[in-house]
Amino acid sequence: MSDLRQQIGRTIASRGQANNYQPEINKDVTEIYGNYVFNEKIMRQRLPKEVYKKLKKTITNHEPLDHSIAEIVASAMKDWATELGASHYTHWFQPLTGATAEKHDAFLVPDENGTAIQQFSGSALIQGEPDASSFPSGGIRATFEARGYTAWDPTSPAFIRKSEAGATLFIPTAFCSYTGEALDKKTPLLRSEAALTKAGTRLVRILGSTATSVQSTAGLEQEYFLIDMEYYNARPDLIATGRTLFGAPSYKGQSMEDHYFGAIKSRILAFMEDTEQYLYKLGIPIKTRHNEVAPAQYEVAPIFEHANMAVDHNMLVMEVMREKAAKHKLKILLHEKPFAGINGSGKHCNWSMSDSLGNNLLEPGKTPHDNLQFLVVLTAIIRAVDKYAKLLRISVAHAGNDHRLGANEAPPAIISAYLGDELGRIVEELVAGVKTSSRAKGNIQLGSLVLPSLPKDNTDRNRTSPFAFTGNKFEFRALGASQHVAVPVTFINTIVADSLDYVSDQIEAAMKGGASLSDAADKVVKETLKVHHRVVFNGDGYSEDWQNEAAKRGLLNLKTTPDALVKMMDQDVVDLFERYKVLSKGELEARYNIKVETYIKALDIEVNATRDMARTIILPAALKYQGQLAAAMAGYSSVPQKQLLEKVGKTTDALMGTIAELDHALEKGHHKDALHHAQYTKDKLVPLMAAVRTQADQLELLVADELWPLPKYREMLLLS
Ligand code: ADP
Ligand code: MG
Repeated sequence: MSDLRQQIGRTIASRGQANNYQPEINKDVTEIYGNYVFNEKIMRQRLPKEVYKKLKKTITNHEPLDHSIAEIVASAMKDWATELGASHYTHWFQPLTGATAEKHDAFLVPDENGTAIQQFSGSALIQGEPDASSFPSGGIRATFEARGYTAWDPTSPAFIRKSEAGATLFIPTAFCSYTGEALDKKTPLLRSEAALTKAGTRLVRILGSTATSVQSTAGLEQEYFLIDMEYYNARPDLIATGRTLFGAPSYKGQSMEDHYFGAIKSRILAFMEDTEQYLYKLGIPIKTRHNEVAPAQYEVAPIFEHANMAVDHNMLVMEVMREKAAKHKLKILLHEKPFAGINGSGKHCNWSMSDSLGNNLLEPGKTPHDNLQFLVVLTAIIRAVDKYAKLLRISVAHAGNDHRLGANEAPPAIISAYLGDELGRIVEELVAGVKTSSRAKGNIQLGSLVLPSLPKDNTDRNRTSPFAFTGNKFEFRALGASQHVAVPVTFINTIVADSLDYVSDQIEAAMKGGASLSDAADKVVKETLKVHHRVVFNGDGYSEDWQNEAAKRGLLNLKTTPDALVKMMDQDVVDLFERYKVLSKGELEARYNIKVETYIKALDIEVNATRDMARTIILPAALKYQGQLAAAMAGYSSVPQKQLLEKVGKTTDALMGTIAELDHALEKGHHKDALHHAQYTKDKLVPLMAAVRTQADQLELLVADELWPLPKYREMLLLS
């Protein structure tokens, strides 16, 4: 083992546990839950009744905010925050970088006595003006003003973030240009939520419900890796790209299948508990933690919430984990594929809709009415997934995720919907016009629409499906671990709103023609499923057969990010987002430009890091070993020894050859058109990077261990 790697091993061993961690021992979590949140309870305590009522209306019904109350709310927020030690506030927003952004301002206002008071005005709560010019705009601001502003989102509660020596009040905000273009990920999400509310409420009311609104709900399961900080710091590839560009497989990978749900190591558990305590204070309902399939891989999942809050909370979960990991001298890896040869990390977006009466629209009900509604909603979603499969694919398209989708560990790049055996059979029978009533006892007959009461089935989960019905929600499994979830949720909300409107239109038309509600619904369900049931697939998504079958069914198989992005500006996509006022053509184009640019930049960094590390770290180690072998053979030499030297020499030559090819391809291949360049990167540079890696990883298995300069997989994955 090289000196550096030995040193790292010693550091880790001597560190023991705990580090800076000072747990709040045995605190009852209900005592700390939500303590840093300006939540319902605090609002009721601190706001005058009338003000509270008005604010509540905005929060639950998404009604426009009554500006006259802002002053009072701001003042109450400031009092509460300063009592908790906050000296500053920040408008917290989500620019198109995919991260979050914050600029802190003090409450402090000096007075004429040379002393100071703390102040926070209604206008400062409602609107902020960060300098927008350094955030990516995808070209929007070339034609409009460079300035942007942040606007308070009262539907996601303000919260306090404590740091070592102070605290800051965080106010979730949307970020727009002065002419109203969305420069962030939250604004389109809120707009899609409005579209879904409108379309969902319309449909359930046609079907006889008294609900006054419908909202989407989301529960986000987050996967991640943890490795020791020392190893991370010794890997330039991890630092620059978030993934290892080199590394031969560990002797012990995930083949023993002993990590999944295994006992959690005490050092890791300390990190998890520390993280969770903080997340509880932020009112984030973390429910589940466990070891994942790969060594050093874990998962955290909260209980679902309204989608907008769930998205904000997922951003916070990632941020808090990053901070806490550093405190525990660990590094969290949120990249989709930090290590080759073992599982990558995804994020499961469990999605459903609930109405103002508290009903989950995807809960198969017990009454005829509930079942009618369930089947109509399910039909609409199947239509949405089929009609706009490309949008679901685009919503998860980025460089990191290309390593997962289709790599037989995550769902394939083909978008299909899994319904399970029971529901799948019902759909097929509806399409075929067969009565399902004879199959199970206790069926509910409504018009000719028949739905057996469904056994809640949590067992036949199909891990290979990208969009799976799991009992009372859909689980979109194609998201990458590092991803900002606002985009997929925005896209799902929008395509579902479109289909809910479609079925509403059809039902209304049939009823105008004289049909009863149940006959109308029956007709629409059957006709719509007939057209769109091709997207339903209950088999093995990893199989070769499915690739062929999907092609026969005419389903898209957009394997890589550039393949998917080609479709992003299709006319039907532009029309859809404009029709639902979620994104204007200009806003969509801005996001397209940024996605293409980000892909190119991410891979550009990888290519450069690959070249540099191969040439300046790996090649010297290989040559040194070659020298040692040659020197050893000066005294005694034999055929096997010569063969070894030759093998090392030839592999080194091959490494140098592939580096030269990469150099050449980089010099030659600059395309002015961004999409062309992205495609060139994918077709030419990505395979060449892989070729460099193949030779380097070969050398790792040949060169003396004490000369190998980079921490090896077995160390990073197994020692922490
Ligand atoms: P797993 O998929 O790992 O078996 P679970 O079934 O326990 O996990 O749930 C996964 C996630 O789905 C959790 O965050 C849970 O709160 C969420 N979930 C449950 N019901 C809904 C719903 N109606 N809408 C959105 N998410 C939901
Ligand atoms: Mg899941």
